[in-house]
Amino acid sequence: MKNAIKNNGKTVISLFAIILLLYGCSQSGQADNKPFTPTMKDSLHPTNPYYSRTDTSVLHVSDDEWKKVLPEDVYYIARNKGTERAFTGKYWDFEGLGTYYCAACGNPLFRSDSKFGSSCGWPSFYESLKPNSVVYEDDNSYGMQRTEVMCGRCRGHLGHIFDDGPAPTFKRFCMNSIVLEFEPDKK
Ligand code: FE
Repeated sequence: MKNAIKNNGKTVISLFAIILLLYGCSQSGQADNKPFTPTMKDSLHPTNPYYSRTDTSVLHVSDDEWKKVLPEDVYYIARNKGTERAFTGKYWDFEGLGTYYCAACGNPLFRSDSKFGSSCGWPSFYESLKPNSVVYEDDNSYGMQRTEVMCGRCRGHLGHIFDDGPAPTFKRFCMNSIVLEFEPDKK
């Protein structure tokens, strides 16, 4: 009799454990399969599921996948490390007050406060929004020694950084307009 009670107790505990396990699996399954829900800003990019102005997690997306979801000109700069022709981009002489986001993934990159009028023909900033908004890499292509600037979230190519900028940093982030998206400050 004692053994029967003991065994029944074990069975109940085991059943309870199995139910808990199944419940846990179904919950994590739901989270993993949760469809991407665009925010209001994300609805500007309905074909790009990686775009978010609030998610700061680093993206690991293949070039093939980027090619499917990015406009051709953004893909050319961000993934092929292309350069737009000087004085042709929409922001090189633009002076609006607001924030510049990565056109590939929505990461906030620069504030208009750090933008300065540069005669180089590309939008120029003396600092990034946060130190980790961008990442850097040595670029020895075309027989030059330069430092490449990439988006801190999607690692997309943005441009290069030079030491001839104004105070207070004396840096010049020389960016491509095509991979930037400007959002004006709310009044
Ligand atoms: Fe990005």
